[in-house]
Amino acid sequence: MKKINFYAGPSILPREVIEQLAQGVLNFNESGLSVLEISHRSADFEAVIANACELVKELLHLPAHYEVLFLGGGASMQFCQVPYNLLPPNGTAAYVNTGVWATGAIHEARFFGNTEVVASSEEGNFSYIPQIPMIGKEYAYLHITTNNTIFGTQYHQLPTCECPLVADMSSDIFSKKTDASKFDLFYAGAQKNLGPAGTTLVVVNPEILGKTNRAIPTMLNYQTHIKKGSMFNTPPVFAVYGCYLTLQWIKKRGIEQIEADNNAKAALLYAEIDRNSLFTGTAKPEHRSVMNATFTINRPELEKTFLQFATEAGCVGIKGHRLVGGFRASMYNAMNIEGVKTLAEVMKTFENKYA
Ligand SMILES: *Cc1c(COP(=O)(O)O)cnc(C)c1O
Repeated sequence: MKKINFYAGPSILPREVIEQLAQGVLNFNESGLSVLEISHRSADFEAVIANACELVKELLHLPAHYEVLFLGGGASMQFCQVPYNLLPPNGTAAYVNTGVWATGAIHEARFFGNTEVVASSEEGNFSYIPQIPMIGKEYAYLHITTNNTIFGTQYHQLPTCECPLVADMSSDIFSKKTDASKFDLFYAGAQKNLGPAGTTLVVVNPEILGKTNRAIPTMLNYQTHIKKGSMFNTPPVFAVYGCYLTLQWIKKRGIEQIEADNNAKAALLYAEIDRNSLFTGTAKPEHRSVMNATFTINRPELEKTFLQFATEAGCVGIKGHRLVGGFRASMYNAMNIEGVKTLAEVMKTFENKYA
């Protein structure tokens, strides 16, 4: 049976990208070699990474001087690489705590300087985006997590600050139009909306670098990777190739169309969550994520039954994170509206059977 992939990450990729990747594993660009065995210095791969960076610039309308990097280490590495490069030992960085990933970023920043949690929704189990005060220029930067993958919340409005704005966009990058010029640095682990796990996209305004007065190990210094075009050492070749193919797919569809489709999918699923007498959404409605919908079942004894019911209907990956419980349906770019319709119908059928 056809599976509809609602996993939070690694997660659904466009079928055509997977087919192109499979072809590349067998015979990359008709070279007679697999993408898994080519040199990262080969002309074909140099073109892949250069074109991927160009596509990122084009799709996000980046200011001309911004740099695009494909690094290893995951978004979690950025939790330490950001403060290593941006937070002077005697400086203070402002962080907003909106969930597990934000908490992780705050934890790592504390190794490098002072951090101040300027807003948090922890007391409400991260079910909303807190009010953020105006952040002044005395801070090294303000760090936010634009979409909270685990708790199903998302910023629909950006905070105002006079210092550089830094964002973890792992789970909503390329899901909607973004004014990239508002950010001085943002990053995203590829495996949510961009490609296979193994690489992390980093976009940075180079003007904010080199100001901490701290020695930075070579591999952790953004300037190393800027100078070498993400090729200081061997980049994750396969993952970057997957991102390149996905970026082409995004360009073909257009970010505006993707955004409209994402909004339609989310509206459809949240309407069913709100209508259905068995389910309750866990996030505050005005902060609900367009990417990850979190909801619980009003009769806990039916939780396992529903999970099994949905799985048997082909809807896989909807078990919620243990910190929220219940269910989570991730609806990344590659999920089509039919998939979401199927899940909504499964919820309706389940209600008719059990409510
Ligand atoms: C998944 C995720 C991460 C962790 O990404 P890794 O690449 O596994 O380190 C960080 N932040 C957010 C918002 C995520 O969704």
